[in-house]
Amino acid sequence: MTPSDSSRKASLLLIYTGGTIGMRQDPSTQTLKPFDFSQILEEVPELRKFAYRIDSYTFDPIIDSSDVEPGLWQCLAELIKDRYSMYDGFVILHGTDTMAYSASALSFMLENLAKPVIFTGSQLPIGIPRTDGRENLVSAVEIAAAKDGQGRAVVPEVCIYFNNMLMRGNRACKVSSDNFTAFRSMNFPPLAEAGISIKYNTHLIIRPEDQDADLIIHTRLDTRVSILKIHPGITPHVVRNILCGEETRAVIMETYGCGNAPCKEWFLNLVRQAAASGKILMNVTQCLSGTVNMNLYSNGKALLEAGVVSGYDCTTESALGKLFFILGQTDDNMAAKELLDKNFRGEISK
Ligand code: ASP
Repeated sequence: MTPSDSSRKASLLLIYTGGTIGMRQDPSTQTLKPFDFSQILEEVPELRKFAYRIDSYTFDPIIDSSDVEPGLWQCLAELIKDRYSMYDGFVILHGTDTMAYSASALSFMLENLAKPVIFTGSQLPIGIPRTDGRENLVSAVEIAAAKDGQGRAVVPEVCIYFNNMLMRGNRACKVSSDNFTAFRSMNFPPLAEAGISIKYNTHLIIRPEDQDADLIIHTRLDTRVSILKIHPGITPHVVRNILCGEETRAVIMETYGCGNAPCKEWFLNLVRQAAASGKILMNVTQCLSGTVNMNLYSNGKALLEAGVVSGYDCTTESALGKLFFILGQTDDNMAAKELLDKNFRGEISK
């Protein structure tokens, strides 16, 4: 780092994709709709008090995040790659509904990340007096600009910042539709907590092996993934349709507790049939916290023996992004199954 590096203003790119933070009530329908981004900056004059250069980029169209598709993630990865050398960090304003999916997917798509990519949003539009958007945005900006004593980004990860908590993006879940604490990271501690000052848990933050390595983006995603949520009363017809669908390469099985499912013969036969046809069956728990351990109960063991692989303590959102990414890397399901066991971006504890 040269002296001029350390004294120069931090520069950030604020990317607006949509979401409540930038919405306003449409008087004709009484529903919330996205509005022009320039007005967000007017609503947050605090941003001007930072000695940062903040540029903005608005997606067209801006969307309610329930409309998010992998195409948006590809555009985000390409945008970050294109502007990577121009900025010290990136803040992505995104709807809360699918923010955990987008942050998870981006975490896998960005390799050798040495700069912060911080997702944030809000539960109340920024134009409303009690909005949570202002604090979320101001702190996300501060975190994206933070440097350590060596001039490196303090948090070179894809994260979600929400209501005083900085979470690893692929560990966070939306847990409330109406509380300001909309996100939690149940299986991994926060990377930082904001109070009077922002306290970073530096020992938990992942740094790139080589700080100067080029950013690699993985935009090839294969979305042939389904989710099967196990529940009492689930029928053979439903299980067959999801597990044995021709278009599906992988199924995330959301099981009970530490990875258990029914051990009825029809159920296990369908699991065996799907596994034998080469499908990847990934076991994640329906519980908010904890990990899959298929060796604990005979029902779990039966799944393991039928060919199901453990997703450990991965969230469903993260499992989906991980599978899209891995399946995009290889057409060979056996190779993909092996890759699934790897901890790529701190998404699992094993
Ligand atoms: N429906 C909104 C969205 O996800 C909700 C929000 O932003 O909080 O875009």
